[in-house]
Amino acid sequence: MKKLILSFAILALAIVACQNNDEVTPNQEAAIDMSDFYVYTSDDVSAKSTKDANNGDKCHSMQVLNRQLQENPGLEQRMYEIEKHTRTLIANKGVTATGKPGGGTTPPPPTPYSGTVTIPVYVHVIYSNSAQNISDAQINSQITVLNNDFNDTNYLDIPSVFRSVAANTNINFTLNSTNIKRYADATATWGTNTSVKTKYPPVAGYLNFWVCNIGGGILGYAQFPGGNAATDGVVISPQYFGVTSGAYGLGRTATHEVGHWLNLRHIWGDGGCRQDDFVLDTPSSDRANYGCPTYPTVHCQSADMTMNYMDYTDDACMNVFTKGQNDRMRTIFAVGGSRVSFVQ
Ligand SMILES: [Zn+2]
Repeated sequence: MKKLILSFAILALAIVACQNNDEVTPNQEAAIDMSDFYVYTSDDVSAKSTKDANNGDKCHSMQVLNRQLQENPGLEQRMYEIEKHTRTLIANKGVTATGKPGGGTTPPPPTPYSGTVTIPVYVHVIYSNSAQNISDAQINSQITVLNNDFNDTNYLDIPSVFRSVAANTNINFTLNSTNIKRYADATATWGTNTSVKTKYPPVAGYLNFWVCNIGGGILGYAQFPGGNAATDGVVISPQYFGVTSGAYGLGRTATHEVGHWLNLRHIWGDGGCRQDDFVLDTPSSDRANYGCPTYPTVHCQSADMTMNYMDYTDDACMNVFTKGQNDRMRTIFAVGGSRVSFVQ
């Protein structure tokens, strides 16, 4: 959303007198505005998009987050600190090294991680019938989709007005065939509680996927950074994992959910026009979009980026992350970031 989130207060020549000498160091600090931060989202607000489209919530990441916030009083504060770290590092972009009065330079402050990110994947397939026991080929097709979507360099398929903000995130995913585990289980539907993760725990050091029948028309859900390690990862119903068929058959449910796992919010901010997704280069909106909208689809007085992976449109009609979203994801791989272990 284009609004001024960050304001810089340059503390001109804040004097730091060292004990052993009288060296004077100029100090520059970014004052980070956190006043618009939110974690809980209201069912009343999100219901707008549901009613408009006569369609359910594809993704239950925000509902799961609401439940986790109630169960874990420390989670809200942890997510606040992660958000503050994210905003601080993004605000630091463009801040250059400064000269010290006594000679030498003060190095520039930390910014979003800029190197290649490679994330090893672990897949737990839990099935109650043979159709849910998806093939290795279907699983591998999902890894291909993730790599293609997170490394996109073709922006001709999005409206020209959005091409300048489109991003190749250079975030990559690898899957060793020995890290596909299959479990026959009589459970017909798992819902969105922790039961599947408790029964088949995540493996540390990986992005864990649980492929199991969620039920209730839910395609998938993810856990945001800051949550309990014992439940960290992404859950997706088998018919939406990898390349299958239908409106959600191109593997973009995982792209969307991994976006949440990397701390992206829904592009409409799960609220009204003023409730943000905390990304500067995505337009404001007050609802999810479904199907395959034509451009421009206007809400909040601007055209929605309906083709963004963090909207609710059909798989064939979503194809972009933005540079702002990329910065946001990459802050969690920087020093002090909640998923820095993946690049160390
Ligand atoms: Zn979502």
